Amino acid sequence: MNLPRMAAVLVLSLAVAGGAQAQYDVLIRGARLLDGSGNPWRVASVAITGDRIAAVGLLPEATARRVIDGTGLYVAPGFIDTHSHAGGGLASASLSHGRPLLAQGITTVVVNPDGGGPIDLVAQRARLLEHGLGVNVAQLVPHGSIRREVVGMADRAPTVAELNRMKDLVGRGMEAGGFGLSSGLYYAPGSYSETEEVIALAKVAARYSGVYQSHIRDEADYNVGLVVAVDEVIRIAREAGLPGIVTHIKALGPRVWGFSEALVRRIEGARAAGVSVFADQYPYEASGTSIGGALIPRWAQADGRQALRDRLRDPSERARMREGVLENLDRRGGAGRLQISRHAPDPAIEGKTLQAVAEERSVHPADLTLQLLDAGGATLVSFNMEEADIRTLMRQPWTITASDGGLTEMGRGVPHPRYYGTFPRKIRKYVRDEGVLSLADAVRTMTSLPASVFGMADRGVLREGAFADVVVFDLERVADNATYSDPHQLADGLVYLFVNGRLAIDEGEFEAALHGRVLRRQWKN
Ligand SMILES: [Zn+2]
Repeated sequence: MNLPRMAAVLVLSLAVAGGAQAQYDVLIRGARLLDGSGNPWRVASVAITGDRIAAVGLLPEATARRVIDGTGLYVAPGFIDTHSHAGGGLASASLSHGRPLLAQGITTVVVNPDGGGPIDLVAQRARLLEHGLGVNVAQLVPHGSIRREVVGMADRAPTVAELNRMKDLVGRGMEAGGFGLSSGLYYAPGSYSETEEVIALAKVAARYSGVYQSHIRDEADYNVGLVVAVDEVIRIAREAGLPGIVTHIKALGPRVWGFSEALVRRIEGARAAGVSVFADQYPYEASGTSIGGALIPRWAQADGRQALRDRLRDPSERARMREGVLENLDRRGGAGRLQISRHAPDPAIEGKTLQAVAEERSVHPADLTLQLLDAGGATLVSFNMEEADIRTLMRQPWTITASDGGLTEMGRGVPHPRYYGTFPRKIRKYVRDEGVLSLADAVRTMTSLPASVFGMADRGVLREGAFADVVVFDLERVADNATYSDPHQLADGLVYLFVNGRLAIDEGEFEAALHGRVLRRQWKN
């Protein structure tokens, strides 16, 4: 302990011993306090000392080194983004600050979703900490990466020995502090897994109090169908004995619009029967994925990239792939509903729809798709959801807010606006403008709900003793400025943001110092 710090502790102890008023590091006075539980706001002050909340209440006598007047502002727990592709960016020198996340009020992200990301969580932790970290990070253990490591891209079940190796890798990730298992059963190679394999691996995560987060096998009618795919998550949660999360829940494409009601019934039914099932959702009508994920049939991806390239060269295989692409274009509502977000070989087409580029080049959109794949692939923003489904799913008390966004260099590509606007958009559009949720309920889906589902100790709530991840915002000024055509826009409305008790945003300006940590799931008794 350094001398000034010792002196401060001494002064504090003397003050408390003498019955005088408490002296805190920070005092946020008189804001409308939302504690994260869903309770309506009340006017209260929040005191911070070190990295923890020292007191919550009216605190009329309290003093602090820094006093913030919260009059007219809301104070809430920092937001938790449970589906984030920001892991790679946060580990890089140029993006470790995570400013597009901080500007949304995000103080913690959960990385390695969809079964992707590194297997070695210890090494990932070191990379995340190398350049400092603007936000806290919780890691998931990625099923798809583990399968690729052990079984490769083969479309088959693992042998007994292979399954044991996969279980061992899941166990190692959980031992390293992982918060659960993620899978992407829609994507290759996750799609080659049977349910039993996932149950066996989820059981390992369950031993460490982990969750199971699933990008489900089918969000439309690609294979088993949307409802059966949600049933699969319920079965895994029940048989493995852990919380199951249907991540970025949606009804994808015109063929399944309106199915949200059926999903709610399935999940409610499972919950009534004692199965712990949740969902998360981003508040946008478009999803985002790779051109391969959205449009290329899975059989064509078996055995890896070279096999895919070989199939593209073979005229009859290429024709068969084209048939699959045609079907998938229809599933997603046509080429006019697919916007190219990133295509490194030709950035000039970024931001345009597949339909528009196909017309420019006088080719059929299905052929353009295969050409782009051949040229190195592309990512897409896919306009495939209906507002009524979004609202139905958003209103459920078990639906968490999550972005499915990531971090990218400002100005690179035309990414999905959820990278910059998810949390403020939900507050601006669905709370303030349209009243789909109350502010207290929306904040709950961003704070205490994800913290309790994922077992993040002492986060997601504003109470004495919790970590001081704290957001202070001006409801009238909350704005998601990112749009589909111009997404590289930071959000507005955040006035102050604390990460582990330290200011990350002060009067709307970013602080240079970074205060995030890599969290560990606490599972030992
Ligand atoms: Zn996903």
